[in-house]
Amino acid sequence: MYKIAVLPGDGIGVEIVPEAVKALQAVGKKFGLEFEFTEALVGGAAYDDGGHPLPAATLELCQGSDAVLLGAIGGPKWDNLPVELRPEIGALLPLRKELELYANLRPCVLFPSLLHASTLKEEVISGVDILVIRELTGGLYFGEKKREKTPDGGEQATDILTYSTYEIERIVRFAYQAARKRRKKLCSVDKANVLESSRLWRETVSKLAAEYPDVETTHMYVDNCSMQLIRNPRQFDVIVTENMFGDILTDEASMLTGSIGMLASASIGGDVGLYEPAHGSAPDIAGQNKANPLAAILSAAMMLRYSFDREEEAVAIEKAVGRLLEEDYRTPDLMEPGKKLLGTVQTGDLVAKYISSIGG
Ligand code: NAD
Repeated sequence: MYKIAVLPGDGIGVEIVPEAVKALQAVGKKFGLEFEFTEALVGGAAYDDGGHPLPAATLELCQGSDAVLLGAIGGPKWDNLPVELRPEIGALLPLRKELELYANLRPCVLFPSLLHASTLKEEVISGVDILVIRELTGGLYFGEKKREKTPDGGEQATDILTYSTYEIERIVRFAYQAARKRRKKLCSVDKANVLESSRLWRETVSKLAAEYPDVETTHMYVDNCSMQLIRNPRQFDVIVTENMFGDILTDEASMLTGSIGMLASASIGGDVGLYEPAHGSAPDIAGQNKANPLAAILSAAMMLRYSFDREEEAVAIEKAVGRLLEEDYRTPDLMEPGKKLLGTVQTGDLVAKYISSIGG
């Protein structure tokens, strides 16, 4: 029995998470696994209900579960709350910190049938298979933040960016282990020409590189990396980078896969892994059955792989997603002339159906 905390959150989170649950239920039925799903509020929905975006009961549920399935949180309705109550800062960051989720994995793999869906040329993106590993509990997002009045009547805002050797070594070792299981190439991304934290990052990576002689190590500045991802993405195997650079680069990398609605993520480190799509709550399309649930469904596959060590079951979900795309079904974000348009719910239903019919 696997205990899963289900946190749909806000916006399209409440639409896509049930589709990921459907996929897990179909896997459970097919492969004889038992899941216990317990739903809880998080983000703006939790704030509206009880005045805090991360209620103690939600955190306790997560800590007592085997894994967490999260949708997305935030939205314009909560943008003007005091900073500590804003869903992203009041819920997402503490959840990552409390569960010690220091490693965020975002596989950026192009399904061959989506070759035409990307805005980039086919010859550039064909065969793209990148794993971005983002440090998730340090850096600018977790540093001290303050606002002060200035003598001229204006304000001054400060965000502190801190990284320790321990934090860098922990994520970089993780990335080397991942690279060893892939094509053995690690690109460390920083801004060592300007930032002191990046200089420590680069020195630490350079020292660790000696322990992994079988992995080819390169260093790249983040501005160059953002350009290289578009120019020649196939040069990358594993990218490891700090929190904010990883946040931005993975949104960019999602376009290599056709849509941000395709990009899954796993956040791991402590005893309980958290799985969520890389996108946000997409208020512009929320409540319209237009959201692509595949990133959430592929995140459920990552849960099976990384938290439960169920490779065959993870692959079953990925194959079902591949089949749906091969059969030309598309949500609006991936729609092209000649393809068949599906809503969020219908996409989830079809994935569950294809999982059930695998091998038979
Ligand atoms: P977003 O990812 O929500 O949306 C960006 C664009 O991508 C929008 O046009 C949206 O319609 C589209 N999109 C996103 N997911 C999609 C999907 N599954 N299917 C189809 N289209 C999709 O980013 P944003 O607009 O910058 O942020 C909206 C809110 O989400 C903000 O409050 C932000 O803080 C929050 N956010 C939350 C998370 C999280 O929960 N982890 C991450 C990023 C942003």
